[in-house]
Amino acid sequence: MDWRVLLVALPDAAVVLDAQSRILEANVPFIDLYPDVRAGQPVNQWLRNPDLFDAIENAIGDGLPQVVVLLHRLPIERRIAARVVRLSEWSAGDLRRGEPCLLVTFRDLTEQDKLAQMREDFIANASHELRTPLASLRGFIETLQGPARDDPVAQDRFLGVMAGQAERMTRLIDDLLSLSRVEMRAHVMPRGTVDLNEVAEYVLETLEPMAESGGAHLSVEASDGPARIRGERDEIVQVLTNFVNNAITYGGRGVQVSVIVTRVETPKGRVPRVRLAVKDNGPGISKEHLPRLTERFYRPSVAASRSKGGTGLGLAIVKHIVARHRGDLDIQSEFGKGSTFSVTFDAVA
Ligand code: ADP
Repeated sequence: MDWRVLLVALPDAAVVLDAQSRILEANVPFIDLYPDVRAGQPVNQWLRNPDLFDAIENAIGDGLPQVVVLLHRLPIERRIAARVVRLSEWSAGDLRRGEPCLLVTFRDLTEQDKLAQMREDFIANASHELRTPLASLRGFIETLQGPARDDPVAQDRFLGVMAGQAERMTRLIDDLLSLSRVEMRAHVMPRGTVDLNEVAEYVLETLEPMAESGGAHLSVEASDGPARIRGERDEIVQVLTNFVNNAITYGGRGVQVSVIVTRVETPKGRVPRVRLAVKDNGPGISKEHLPRLTERFYRPSVAASRSKGGTGLGLAIVKHIVARHRGDLDIQSEFGKGSTFSVTFDAVA
């Protein structure tokens, strides 16, 4: 079999060099990565990297695979791992010009680096969020053991605050577990059928007591026809609960919260769609925050979210659930004019 067939089949950018490190053949990902490189050019004409030359020399010499990391600054900063492998059993001196001698593959590490950084940031954020209530609990324990030892009134008050901090830690852990569960199931298609009108009624009923104590008014507008989707009921309930919960929490006293289920017009021949929207006339959110709201732990005001029992994970969980359901999440809001959070899914009969 011709070795060129294998080169084409490789998913990474790859080139085959002869014993004089001239390019014999490159695959399409390589041409995308280094568009200016031409067949027949020796390596040192297009990549002036001494580490790569050494790796090539070594691979030719002892036949062992070599890996070097290349740093490219232009057009954007990238880290690329180049792996040099000698193809031939023969030593380089025995090979004629134009015969394949080395395979060099290039793997872009930028995406991998970005993911590693995101994971690191996430762990740092999660530990910080847990450490804050923990530090406060520690402080109160010390006070109860010391200065407040014989002060029953202060003890009562401190224990109340401590219970609140413990609750906050529980909420955070519940949300972290929820996020990791939905992430794990991201590629498993949901199997059940969910009626969005039924979910809307159900969620409103469960949140009515919270709305009453928060001074919010809730209402539901069901769709004209059926609004069924392929989905996991628990997860759709979680999405809607988060939206309504936020509208009550951030809307302020007297806020009007409407849950609206509608069938969406789609062009003829396309699958009909249904939308679940939660609209409030609360304070709204400034435009600059909107694109980042679904990031884990992102909140326009960390203090406001914390004081209201928020974790900053609600909308990140929503985003994952909606993606798993192949739905579209949309957030419309204007500072001072209220917000509308909506999700749209393909309908099923
Ligand atoms: P949390 O509520 O736990 O802080 P979320 O991810 O659910 O986290 O929401 C992120 C942020 O989005 C909230 O802190 C709040 O600032 C903002 N937000 C969400 N919904 C609304 C809303 N209906 N009105 C105003 N702000 C909102």
